[in-house]
This record gives sequence, C-alpha cells and structure tokens, in this order.
Amino acid sequence: MVVAVDGYSSTGKSTVAKLVAKKLGLMYIDTGAMYRAVTYFALKSNLFNGEKVDEVRLKELLPNVTVSFMAEPSTGKNLTCLNGECVENEIRGMEVSNRVSIIAAIGFVRQFLVEQQQAMGRVGNVIMDGRDIGTVVFPDAQVKFFMTASPQVRAKRRYDELIAKGDSVTYEEVEKNVLTRDYIDTHREVSPLVQADDAIVVDNGNMSIEENVELMVNYIKERSNGN
Ligand code: C5P
Repeated sequence: MVVAVDGYSSTGKSTVAKLVAKKLGLMYIDTGAMYRAVTYFALKSNLFNGEKVDEVRLKELLPNVTVSFMAEPSTGKNLTCLNGECVENEIRGMEVSNRVSIIAAIGFVRQFLVEQQQAMGRVGNVIMDGRDIGTVVFPDAQVKFFMTASPQVRAKRRYDELIAKGDSVTYEEVEKNVLTRDYIDTHREVSPLVQADDAIVVDNGNMSIEENVELMVNYIKERSNGN
C-alpha cells in the first residue's frame, strides 16, 4: 500500500505521517528531506550565486550524490544522510529552506529523486510525504491526502519549531519563507504542487495533531477494507 501525503509547506505533513506510520506499521519516507539534502549539497559545493544555481555543474555532480535515511540508535528518529554523513540539522535551517524550492524546480533533480522515491515505494507499505506524491510519484496510490492550513498558522508552527531547536529566526522571516515556497512550488513548470483529483483535503488549522492522525488512520483503514 502507498499512502500519499501532499500539501503546502509546514502543514504538519511529516509530523502526522510519522505518527500514522507508527500506528499502522508503514514505512515513512520524507521526500522533502531529499530535496533539502540536494540543496545542502549544492550549497556546500558552492553552486549558488545568490538565488541562481549552476545547473550545468549540478547535473555533472548529481550522479555522485546519495541521499539515504537511517534511524538514530538512541531515539529511533529518522535521520537524513548525504553521501553517508548525517545532515539532519543542516537541512532544516533557513539557509537550506530559503533555497530548496529553487532546487526542487529543476527537472533533472526531480527526475533523479522521483526514481529513487518510486523504488522505495515498491519495497513495501509506505507513507510518503511531499508535493507531488499523489500526482507524479505514485498517481495510483491507494490513499491520498492533501494537507492545508492558513499561511499564518503554518508559519507560526514552523517558527515555534525552529525557536525550540535554538535557531535565531524572526516570525516575519519564517512567514516570508513559507509564502515564497508555496508560490514557487505551485507555479513551477515541472510537477507543480496541485491537489490530486482523488485526494482527501485535510485543513488542519483547527485540528490537534492527535485528531489529524486519527482522521487519517481511520480513513486508511476504511480504504484498506475496500470501502
Ligand atoms: O516538505 P519540506 O517542506 O521539507 O520540503 C521542502 C521543499 O522541497 C518544498 O518547499 C518543495 O520545494 C520541495 N519538495 C518538492 N517535492 C516534494 C517534496 C518537497 O518539490 N515531493
């Protein structure tokens, strides 16, 4: 079974998808982390000139990039690795957040990562979150969710998360990042963020995490019982 969870930035997709995965014994795959890892790679390789990225060089280097996940031994937390090195903290900061949608709009980057995501999904029962899972990566996914909430609710959630981690950011900076990513993600030429026709829309602006998880778990159970 493939469960696709798409939607706008900071709608809590990964938080709820992880909990749903735990409840239902699914493998959780965070595709945003893969785009973030490639962005971090491009930053470390000095491929950015302001907002512009050296696509020719990136295309040359990309075959040498391996993005993988491992469970942190003490907590079981899912960690993102770039060429075998854990980059989980680095990919969550504003430096990467401010550039990831630029990288994610590049066709050959998407092709490179989508192939890997499809291979991961073929292995077993997965819940995958991203922007194009129900439309491009797994258009035949048995269950599709599309998550949304107001930009202010989403920015506040992301801001609280970054502050709790000790990052020094302002609310305005985070809100701008959320809005900019929404804009680029919905307007890019290749696989823009759109709601799949057969997706269930979840507006979780006034929902607790527990309510959101329960709604999804119940829906997945219904669907897997053939209803
Ligand atoms: O999910 P997350 O917010 O970590 O994703 C970071 C960025 O990666 C998104 O804003 C989007 O630009 C890109 N992305 C994408 N397609 C996906 C997952 C993420 O374009 N399947």
